[in-house]
Amino acid sequence: MSDLKTLLKTTPKYITILAKNGITTIKDFLQYYPRTYEDRSTIRNLNELVFNEKGITATKWKITSKSIFSRGGRRIYDIKFVDPAGNKWYITIFNSWFLASKIQEGKRYIIVGKPMIKMNKITFSHPDVIETEAPEETNLEPETWNELGIWNVQSETQTYNTWRIFPIYSELNGISPWRFAQKMRSVLDNVDSIFHEYLPNELLQKFWLPAVAETIKAMHYPESFEQQKWANMRIFFDRLLRVQLYSLMNRQNYQQEKQGFIWEEIMWDIVKEIVDKLPFTLTNSQKKVIKMITENIHEPKPMLRLLQWDVWSGKTVVAATSAYYTHKKFGGQSVFMAPLEVLAQQHYRTLAKLLMPLGLRVELLTGSVTRDQKLKIKKDLQAGHIHVLVWTHAVLQEDVQFQNLQFVVIDEQHKFGVKQRAFFKQFGAPHILQMSATPIPRSMALAFFWEFDVSVIDEMPIGRLPIKTKIISASEYAKLKPWMLDRIKKGEKVFIVTPLIEESEKMEELKSATTEFEEAKSLFPELKGKIGLLHGRMKPKEKEEVMNAFKTGKICLLVSTTVIEVGIDIPEATIMVIKNAERFWLSQLHQLRGRIGRSDIQSYCFLETKSKSGDIGKRLGAMEDTNDGFKLAELDLQNRGAGEILWTMQSGESDIPLEILSDLKFLEKIQDAAKWILEKYPDLNWLPGLKKYLEEKMWDVLA
Ligand code: ADP
Ligand code: MG
Repeated sequence: MSDLKTLLKTTPKYITILAKNGITTIKDFLQYYPRTYEDRSTIRNLNELVFNEKGITATKWKITSKSIFSRGGRRIYDIKFVDPAGNKWYITIFNSWFLASKIQEGKRYIIVGKPMIKMNKITFSHPDVIETEAPEETNLEPETWNELGIWNVQSETQTYNTWRIFPIYSELNGISPWRFAQKMRSVLDNVDSIFHEYLPNELLQKFWLPAVAETIKAMHYPESFEQQKWANMRIFFDRLLRVQLYSLMNRQNYQQEKQGFIWEEIMWDIVKEIVDKLPFTLTNSQKKVIKMITENIHEPKPMLRLLQWDVWSGKTVVAATSAYYTHKKFGGQSVFMAPLEVLAQQHYRTLAKLLMPLGLRVELLTGSVTRDQKLKIKKDLQAGHIHVLVWTHAVLQEDVQFQNLQFVVIDEQHKFGVKQRAFFKQFGAPHILQMSATPIPRSMALAFFWEFDVSVIDEMPIGRLPIKTKIISASEYAKLKPWMLDRIKKGEKVFIVTPLIEESEKMEELKSATTEFEEAKSLFPELKGKIGLLHGRMKPKEKEEVMNAFKTGKICLLVSTTVIEVGIDIPEATIMVIKNAERFWLSQLHQLRGRIGRSDIQSYCFLETKSKSGDIGKRLGAMEDTNDGFKLAELDLQNRGAGEILWTMQSGESDIPLEILSDLKFLEKIQDAAKWILEKYPDLNWLPGLKKYLEEKMWDVLA
């Protein structure tokens, strides 16, 4: 954009680099915040620096020699200078003629670096050398120098790059951080005319927030670290406020009171009917959640509830109980949504087994149902002959009509968002129960799932055999072979999981998976033809085929990347080996591990890693110690893994720092602000700035 080019007074090449990094307007440019800051406000005298500690000093050169030599293929520039007290100093610069030639006698510089003794010389090894603005001081009076010959720091006035907190930007290919800082400085005065406040003044005062323009300026050139922190707080406040406002608006929009609502007594006898039929006793957690949902579906507003806890903890039976209740009490129909056909089939079997004997009709509607069957199902749904429908996301769009849809269960799908909710709203806003097997720490649930009331089943059914987990080395893995073969002979199945790879490294994923596949084949020649491969580059249909082959036993050892669906239930899978386990976050390892341990046979999870000792071993050790997904997710948070938890949740928004995402107080403050805004300005048209801002930044973490 031309405005940027004119304002920055720069070259097309610079503009191209900026554009490549997503900076096309002056607004983008001003919102490209520093990676970190350097405290250049206290500049010490040379003699006050501490050896081997990074410090900042200012000096004027009296260069006695500049020499160039090569060592190990690197060009080394050695610059020797003498301070007025006669001490000799050296600056060593590697491979940068540009930097070396910049250093000239008679100019004034700031050095940011560690003084060290190297070969008996006091040396700054490749420091940052910054020329300071020194218009008149070129002929400094001797009395402004102290006795060591360094000029008096106190007398120096603040400049844009020294005697202050200085911004350090990430290097953009070809644009150095200092150049960026310089350009930023040159346009900073435009901030007031570019960024207009969109939050009401009253709110800023109430929640103690800096104004937008002030914020942007302080993000780049703060007067103090406190000021920078304050500005940073405003930035994240706004980002999360947006999420909270959307959540709140979505929630309010969905939860409009039902017309002609009548309070009715809860009939606990109905709940008892189905609970008595179960082949096991419910845990207290399950009972509590069933009670809560039953109460919810008697309320005048549709329920929006998130039910979380590990796979295999018994969430489905809770949902089934509520579907039964909905039918018996209100004559309502229910839908169970699954992200995949295999999962839908699994649900169908469970629900049919449980509910059909109680007189409910359960049907399955997926992509593979024939046209005629589909027509019949649709007709019966509309007529109210079907009471529970198991559905996949793939066929959500089809023109289905319900007689009386009242309850929707969404399983294992974090991405269920506004669109889908809008889809169900057309059927009269049924109660929604979203189920998630990713334990989400409380603060993050608050940040991202505020639309939902959150319930947790924090207790596993009794009598479960907890999965045994062990950290092993590569050689120990090889030694497991006979043991593994033995178990495979008995009909058990094995997962070998290879490290997850970033989206951008899809080719790598394939490579690591295929390498592992070949290795497995040569390690287990006995299993010829019974080893399978599953990875992210396969088509959904191919993936399902492999999963089915593993389920039915055609394959007994499956090499896989992390694409195995959470919900898939393969009771014979009792062994999992996770290769390069150190490359996963604990919550991911825990998710993976949840795919075994689904029968009364003892399951084993092996975490293979090259570094059993040290920090990695310690971190992975938590996996041996606990099967509690919440604890592991909290540990990830402490290990700065919030982004990874978000990754597991597939929400994509991971650049909100951990301090913020684990700061309950801050998140609650943002919620209060969102509530305040919507109470005071239920119609956001009163706040055109905010409305526009929300529209500009439209994204929905759940969509
Ligand atoms: P989730 O949906 O949380 O993954 P499921 O509801 O599918 O878990 O339950 C997993 C298994 O545990 C099922 O076979 C189910 O019948 C069984 N189960 C559920 N609740 C209990 C319980 N309280 N006691 C024993 N087994 C249970
Ligand atoms: Mg499940």
